Amino acid sequence: MTMNNQGRPTAPGTIEANELPTISGDRGLMHEEPLIFELGRPGMTGVDLPEVQMSEARLGGMRRKGPVGLPGLSEPEVVRHYVRLSQTNYSIDAGLYPLGSCTMKHNPRLNEKMARLPGFADAHPLAPQKTVQGAMEAIAQLMNWLTTLTGMPAVAMSPKAGAHGELCGLLAIRAAIEARGENRKRILVPESAHGTNPATAAFAGFTVDEVPAKGDGHVDADALEAKLGLDVAAIMLTNPNTCGLFEKRIIEIAEHVHRAGAYFYCDGANFNAIAGRVRPGDLGIDAMHINLHKTFSTPHGGGGPGAGPVVLSEALAPFAPLPLLVHDSKGFRLIEDRADLPEGANPFGRMCAFHGQMGMFTRALAYMLSHGADGIRQASEDAVLSANYILASLKDVMSAPFGDGPCMHEALFDDSFLEGTGVTTLDFAKAMIDEGYHPMTMYFPLVVHGAMLIEPTESESRESVDRFIHVLRTMAEEAKAGKTERFGGAPRLAPRRRLDETAAARKPILRWKPKDLPQAAE
Ligand SMILES: *Cc1c(COP(=O)(O)O)cnc(C)c1O
Repeated sequence: MTMNNQGRPTAPGTIEANELPTISGDRGLMHEEPLIFELGRPGMTGVDLPEVQMSEARLGGMRRKGPVGLPGLSEPEVVRHYVRLSQTNYSIDAGLYPLGSCTMKHNPRLNEKMARLPGFADAHPLAPQKTVQGAMEAIAQLMNWLTTLTGMPAVAMSPKAGAHGELCGLLAIRAAIEARGENRKRILVPESAHGTNPATAAFAGFTVDEVPAKGDGHVDADALEAKLGLDVAAIMLTNPNTCGLFEKRIIEIAEHVHRAGAYFYCDGANFNAIAGRVRPGDLGIDAMHINLHKTFSTPHGGGGPGAGPVVLSEALAPFAPLPLLVHDSKGFRLIEDRADLPEGANPFGRMCAFHGQMGMFTRALAYMLSHGADGIRQASEDAVLSANYILASLKDVMSAPFGDGPCMHEALFDDSFLEGTGVTTLDFAKAMIDEGYHPMTMYFPLVVHGAMLIEPTESESRESVDRFIHVLRTMAEEAKAGKTERFGGAPRLAPRRRLDETAAARKPILRWKPKDLPQAAE
């Protein structure tokens, strides 16, 4: 169920009053789909299994007392259910997905093929290690690529996402500080940071101290330096930053941070802009997570799956979490126990039960091997080129706060070009849905009013980017000329109209059963 613009509840798929309602509730090829629990009925199944003769004695009193309540459906019903849901989703396979900071790039099918090889796909985390040497070698190769590309000596593979990687990095920093016998509790975070940065710092038991940004979109390095002190554990800086700019004073910042006895955590979610061109280790970074699901093309969206390995400097490497992957005369080995630790290792603990996301590791490694070092470098360069092409093509009709110079992999606009039009960033983004595009990132970074952050990535063709520019250009021109019809109620052509986003998040209404249609027999 959704709310229409008057706040009146309407059944999903409900047609505007001036259109002819359909009998089925579906609209053309756009099907409404109830929850699988609403669809299912007891006793229905996709397979016929023989009755099992199980004696009570063998079950040892473990027999289920009542039904489990799983939905019962036939095979074709299950197939249709998921195909219909997938058709209501937007995806990178359906079109350009310009969500800034998220790096929605094409997921090469070769990666998928490799990840489905049984040796990788069927490997069990508890399998005897001598039976999964190949999978372990693949992880070791990926680790080698990551440490080489970043110029860092060590990498922890188990974090399952960027935010999890941040936590891993900060726990390593906490352990390093404790090992020095110090008590440093403050972490400096620029106000332009991704929300996960301050959240992670707080979760890891630190207090967050915000560093202002300057008018040019860079962190205020002088303000940062002034905040350094004996209680500062680390800074968390994003580079390239969330305004799509390379932090020009980063080396100087690193020197000040180290002189103050603190560590330099870099949010490396935007590594795709510099991979193959800049090694974070050369910039003085102590810990940085890499989103394999962004930079290295492993699929993501809708909450996962992800993988957020963390590269660590010499100073933090000893504190890397378990398990540790080592290679010796007997082959590859995962060290799970403190008792087996090599000299000098002092892990802070562990991030999760097993070793990380094998499926994502395989895809990322396939991406690296198929691109090669030169291909990775070119991917970064092309991502930056595409973003600059968009910036240069739109900055005369949309307003680009930092549009005087080039950007990195994403082009940032603000809402000043909409001033006086009555159209907001939200209206503009929602109207993009009617044009068949996923909106760009909106209202982030917070340091720019009504921000619109566009990241085209290197995987869009020139034609695709040109078409996108044409659509946005026309929309901006219309808005400025007072032609605002398409913005007010947008989206008008999507499966759902504009939702009250707060209510949709707080009180989601997911159930829907067409009232007047024949119901499934119980
Ligand atoms: C995506 C992103 C993160 C978080 O990564 P997840 O994998 O979503 O946890 C952190 N910082 C920045 C700048 C990002 O773009």
